[in-house]
Amino acid sequence: MKHINSIILVIIIALFTSCSKDGDVNFFTVKDDVAFGAQLDSTILADPNEYPILNEAQNQEVYKYVRDIMNRVLQSNEILYKEEFKWQVRVIDKNVLNAFAAPGGYLYFYTGFLKYCRSEAEFAGVMAHEIAHADRRHSTETLTKVYGIQILLSILMGQNPSQLEQIVAVLATNGAALSFSRKHEYQADEYSLRYLNSIKQIRNYHPTAIIDFFDHMKEDSLTTPNGSFEFLRTHPYDDNRKANIDKIWKSLGSPTGNRFEAEHAAIVAKLN
Ligand SMILES: [Zn+2]
Repeated sequence: MKHINSIILVIIIALFTSCSKDGDVNFFTVKDDVAFGAQLDSTILADPNEYPILNEAQNQEVYKYVRDIMNRVLQSNEILYKEEFKWQVRVIDKNVLNAFAAPGGYLYFYTGFLKYCRSEAEFAGVMAHEIAHADRRHSTETLTKVYGIQILLSILMGQNPSQLEQIVAVLATNGAALSFSRKHEYQADEYSLRYLNSIKQIRNYHPTAIIDFFDHMKEDSLTTPNGSFEFLRTHPYDDNRKANIDKIWKSLGSPTGNRFEAEHAAIVAKLN
């Protein structure tokens, strides 16, 4: 009986497992990514004490700025799921140095993060990195590894409706930042550069601006070790990581661009 059960399970897994556009095997379907992201988003909205969403009516310029940057990155021809995913960005009004992506294109940035970036290009670089985590479907691949196929399968089959909410709650209370593997982090860095390099006609961001951000954060974390460096905790930054970014940059022909510091400062001033 146990044997038959496991055969059935293997068949079900084979039916549900899908191939991503990038060829990686992912247990979730693309629609599951969006459904899961929507669940996570509802959980975040339901807890305004933990996740106070920046008032949009009072901060229209800030939202326009953040959305414009997201939409520019999404113009890249390297994006796989531009139409299929939700691509929505929320700003959480808290002095936390963090940003994260949920499956299906749901993106979150804390005001503390916006203030910490010194240029629009830095912000765009990290935005592109988070978009890559969602678009390359790292989020759901990581969830599968963390929670296991059987739990996720029971959720998808509707046998375990409370479990999805529980997972979402766990993710949300941990800042929703999944700890991605080094492979996923390096890939997200790579696509950050590729995206920015491919939208130069729209906005000429320096493609390696994400390095400015990492260097800045690393320096500060060494001098103020008790500071709030959530993003650095989920994004370990060392010489290898920097060398990887440098290698990708050279392979693209060492393209340069602008940082747009004044434009970013004007938006940060509106947050104070
Ligand atoms: Zn990352």
